Amino acid sequence: MDLSRRELLTASALALASPKVAWSAVSAGGRRVAADGAGAASAQPIVLCWNENPYGPSPAARAVLSGTIPIACRYPDEDIEQLVAVLAKKEKFPAAHIVVGTGSGELLCALGFLHGKGGGEIIAAEPTYAELTNYAKHAGAELKFVPVDKQLNHDLAAMRAAVSARTRAVYICNPNNPTGTAISAAAIRSFVGSLPDSVTTIVDEAYLDFADTDGVQTVTDLVGAGKRVVVLRTFSKIHGMAGVRCGYGITRPDLAAEIAAARMSSANIFAMRAARASLADEAFLTDTRRRIIASRKRITDELQRLGLAYARPQTNFVFFDTGAPLARFDQFMKTRNILVGRLFPPYNNWCRITIGTEPETDAFLRGLQAYTAKRTQA
Ligand code: PLP
Repeated sequence: MDLSRRELLTASALALASPKVAWSAVSAGGRRVAADGAGAASAQPIVLCWNENPYGPSPAARAVLSGTIPIACRYPDEDIEQLVAVLAKKEKFPAAHIVVGTGSGELLCALGFLHGKGGGEIIAAEPTYAELTNYAKHAGAELKFVPVDKQLNHDLAAMRAAVSARTRAVYICNPNNPTGTAISAAAIRSFVGSLPDSVTTIVDEAYLDFADTDGVQTVTDLVGAGKRVVVLRTFSKIHGMAGVRCGYGITRPDLAAEIAAARMSSANIFAMRAARASLADEAFLTDTRRRIIASRKRITDELQRLGLAYARPQTNFVFFDTGAPLARFDQFMKTRNILVGRLFPPYNNWCRITIGTEPETDAFLRGLQAYTAKRTQA
């Protein structure tokens, strides 16, 4: 039996709890079923460690996905053009500024390769989403990591100070994964304005739809101003289509062409059509955002009540201090069939918890309360 990387990662996380659970998750093809709300042993674990959106895909995207099966024998060239046209209209740029990918992850890898090859220096925060830097490392990049500040925000002053004559790109994940924090568009604009023209700034806005702080907004205007900036978006988060694989970049036409040439795969017809349908399903997008933000508030309220520190979340996940090495919380939650654990050094006591459905949030909060009570008694 062949296992995908994701299945192997999930299985190995699960195997820490119980090989039986691990095997059942893998043999279900990675399918995860929300628990009944009790969080007790159900057939499938509650998986709160991948920042997925459990409400998706949208009703419109689901209909299009199944309706596309009969024409899956066709190449998707026209569908790619149609999605690019829709995205161009949405973003208010000519089509030459848009580049689509098999997930924004593919575009991050292409950017890591283009800027890292031949020893190019790339600057990123620590911790941040590692897909670009991991890929760049294989291409021979020199990586410079700049710790986030005390509020767990990107430290743009320190990142600017780290720029050298060898710097080819700076990666800003805004809001940031795994900390969940976001910086203002104004801060990014002034950072980009201070850079030499040769340096590319990659602004990953995968989670921007979940932000609710004034001033935290897109910086596509920098692209309009002709800056060497690439803004990345994905259909994996608010659109709830992580398994469908679709993302896109908004950038200058010269950079869009370079990124397109560095992609390793071509888009698939399901992703192209479902993405278009999802963009038009505004009721779903509004409802998802409302529900995620409401559950996020429930989680931060509870963290506050329990006296546990957390970074200000602008995402569909919350990063918080469990008060002890993460492995303990991870093991405890696994006994309740809830998967939370991923370590983000140097935050070895901190947990990044994905916001699931309402019953999953109930189960998580019950687990968190029980864990905290047990720790207090010990
Ligand atoms: N960017 C960030 C910040 C992410 O957290 C992720 C996935 O979790 C991605 C990009 C990749 O998204 P995609 O599924 O579009 O490849």
